[in-house]
Formats: sequence, C-alpha cells, structure tokens
Amino acid sequence: MTDTAHRAKSAILSHDRSADAFAAARAVMPGGVNSPVRAFRSVGGTPVFVDRGEGSRFWDVDGNVYVDYVLSWGPLILGHAHPRVVEATTAALRKGTSFGAPTLAETELAELIRDSVPGIDLVRLVSSGTEATMSALRLARAATGRDKIVKFSGCYHGHADMLLVQAGSGVATLGLPDSPGVPRGATIDTLVAPFNDLESVQALFDEHRDDIAAVIVEPVAGNMGLVTPRDGFLPGLRSITGKHGALLIFDEVMTGFRVFPGGAVELYDVQPDLVTFGKVVGGGFPLAAYAGTRAVMEHVAPAGTMYQAGTLSGNPVATAAGIATLTTLREPGVWDGAARSATTLVDGLRKAASAASIPVQATSVGTMAGMFFNDTQVSNYADAQKSDTGRFATFFNAMLQQGVYFAPSQFEALFLSAAHTEQDLALTLEAAAEAFALLPA
Ligand SMILES: *Cc1c(COP(=O)(O)O)cnc(C)c1O
Repeated sequence: MTDTAHRAKSAILSHDRSADAFAAARAVMPGGVNSPVRAFRSVGGTPVFVDRGEGSRFWDVDGNVYVDYVLSWGPLILGHAHPRVVEATTAALRKGTSFGAPTLAETELAELIRDSVPGIDLVRLVSSGTEATMSALRLARAATGRDKIVKFSGCYHGHADMLLVQAGSGVATLGLPDSPGVPRGATIDTLVAPFNDLESVQALFDEHRDDIAAVIVEPVAGNMGLVTPRDGFLPGLRSITGKHGALLIFDEVMTGFRVFPGGAVELYDVQPDLVTFGKVVGGGFPLAAYAGTRAVMEHVAPAGTMYQAGTLSGNPVATAAGIATLTTLREPGVWDGAARSATTLVDGLRKAASAASIPVQATSVGTMAGMFFNDTQVSNYADAQKSDTGRFATFFNAMLQQGVYFAPSQFEALFLSAAHTEQDLALTLEAAAEAFALLPA
C-alpha cells in the first residue's frame, strides 16, 4: 500500500460530492440506492459514493480513502480488484460475455465447489443468493413432496416472498416486521423458530411432523450481526430433520468459504442435504449456487422434473471471477491470513471498548467478525435487538470520519480479506479507541 493510503485516518475532508451524488440518485432511484442498507438510514448522514477500490481500501468520489470491512457485503475475500480476478475476468470478457450454451468454466467452478465442501455431488449455478435459496427450497419441496419450511428469526435468506418473515438486518434496520406486498398465502407454510433453540424446532416438528419439507438455517448467522451456533444446535437440527424425513439446508451464501475453507459444513462437521452459496463464489460478480447430494440434486431439471432456469446462469465472466477467487483462496496462507486479521480486529475492538468502559460483544468466526453494543452475549435475534443502536450510529460515523468503513448497521457482519494488512488493522484499532471514547460510558 502507498503512503497516501496509510494516511487514510486523517484524510476525510469532505463528502460534498457524495452528497450531490446522493441527491441526484434519489431523483431517479427509490431512496437513491439499489439495495436498502446502502442508504445509511440507521446511522444517519449521506452514503459514501465509491469511485474505485484496491486491496483492502476504496476511494470515494471526494477522494477520501477508507479501509473497507464491508467488501461488497462479503464477496471480496481477496480484496478489491485482485489482479488474478481482474485478469481472469478481462480474458473472459474478451471472449464474449454470455452464450446461453455450456462453457468449460462452469464445470471447473462446479468442481471447485464440490471439492471444497464435504458431501456435495452436484452443483447448479445461478445468479444471486436469493435465487439459490429460493431454488433450494423448491427442490426440498419437490424431493419430499411436502410444503412447510422452517426458518429462524433474524436469519436472512434473500428476498423471496416465502422467506421475508423475521428476516434480519435489512428488514430489521428499517424496522419493518415484514414487507407489504408479500401475500399471506406466500408465507403460510413458513414456520419460524428462534436461532439456537432446538426445543422450538422440535415443537414445530411435533405439531407438523410429516408436513415439513426442510429446515433452512444460516449455520453461523450473519444477518442479525454475527451470531454463532451453540454447541449441539447444528447437530441437533441434523438429527431432528433426519428423523422426520425433512431436508436440512445450510444457507452458506455468506459463510461459504468464509467461516472455514470448506464453510460451516466442514467447520462444524455437520452434513446438510443442500447447501447454498453466493457472495465469495462469485468473486464480486452476480453468481451463486445450490448444491447437494446426487439423490436430491437429480430432481433438478433437466435431470429431473423440478424446474429452475436462468438466462445468465453460469455467466462466463462471473464464472471466471469465481474460479480465480476460489483457486487463489486455496493457496497457502491466503484464507488463514484473512482469518488471522479477523481475530486481531476482534481482540483489538474488545480491548479498546473495555478501556473506554463500553460493553460490547465482539466475535469472529474464520474471516467474519461482528460487534454488538450489548451487555450480554447474543445468541438469537431477540438478544441482538437489545443492542444499543444509538451508540452504534455514533461509533460508525466516528470510524467513517477516520477513514474506516464498517457496515452502516449494527446488524451486519464485518468482513476481512486477504488484502487487509497489519497497518490497516492498527489504523482501525486506533480509530476505534477514539470512537469508543466519544460514547457516553
Ligand atoms: C446475502 C445473502 C443472501 C442473498 O443473496 P443475494 O445475492 O443478495 O440475493 C441469502 N442468504 C444469505 C445468508 C445471505 O447472506
């Protein structure tokens, strides 16, 4: 990194151009953004408009530079504009952007996913995490001939109608309990249990036993802030679903390749029937996947009769980015480096908060981190909601002002990349010490 980059901490001069850009954007797009949490509603102020990124940093349209802990909400595990990703996608781009016919790269990416995660035989590539979870649930219903699904409050699985029930961050941040426009019929088969609460899941199975097609879970919840599974929670889900002939779906759109090289499946050694991927597998492009055992996946058309399709599925540019990302990630020290940075960040945040007598709950799992302004340990959505959002808003803005870009909501995870350096972390923790000191104890 250059010297200018290292001076990030004192570099924030003005946000005038971002403010103008936001005004122009609001005139032509709802709320001025194309995805709600980008609008900074819960932290106040104007969203920062990005000009370009490199490694762990990005530059805004006013020329300010930030150490980035959002990384496009998770995908950029190698950092911004990683040379290998840029090269691979540029080469793919030159050969043509889309064919709607099979390419070799699709098989290569599917093999990489299969070989990285235990228990996967077949993979279907799609274009967004929403599409992956939606399709996985259709598949679970097709494979079991049942309709009901179980999800957990605070877990987000994309914005499909049937899943917009107690769906965490984006929704939580805006304080919408649900979304208007979702017909009652769409969620009638969606059952909701508290995260980390096996007894509630058992109670749902006692009541609906042979009607439940699947349980879908973020194995490490990352959409209500970072919440880890209690010992026994994931194995318990495996055993309850297995006993009742229901499928277990790990939604690893966020955790895949992040909480462990083989995702939560490998980290917790629990084998779900289906796994969804997104974010990291697309290397910053619109690409996602669902995958599972041959027996279940062979219900998918054209092998089977469950219909699911996509004009841009397995897009060659996106696929090239995914392959470049996953192959680089497998090289010695790459994933480990990002994970080590997550530990350093969380240890440092805890120390800085404690020095300022501010109670926080900070955790990391692999390359993901999270911090709640909360007195007690957070193990589900109800606990997360007791966090102090006022303190977070002050903290967030103080960090931003010092050139550190955290997610503009307390109910989001923080993401590390292989590009984050010791300097980045030192600068971040210095900024955090100042930000904590601003908060009333
Ligand atoms: C981001 C996310 C999704 C949705 O993915 P999109 O690509 O935004 O549609 C689904 N599930 C989880 C766990 C996610 O974090």
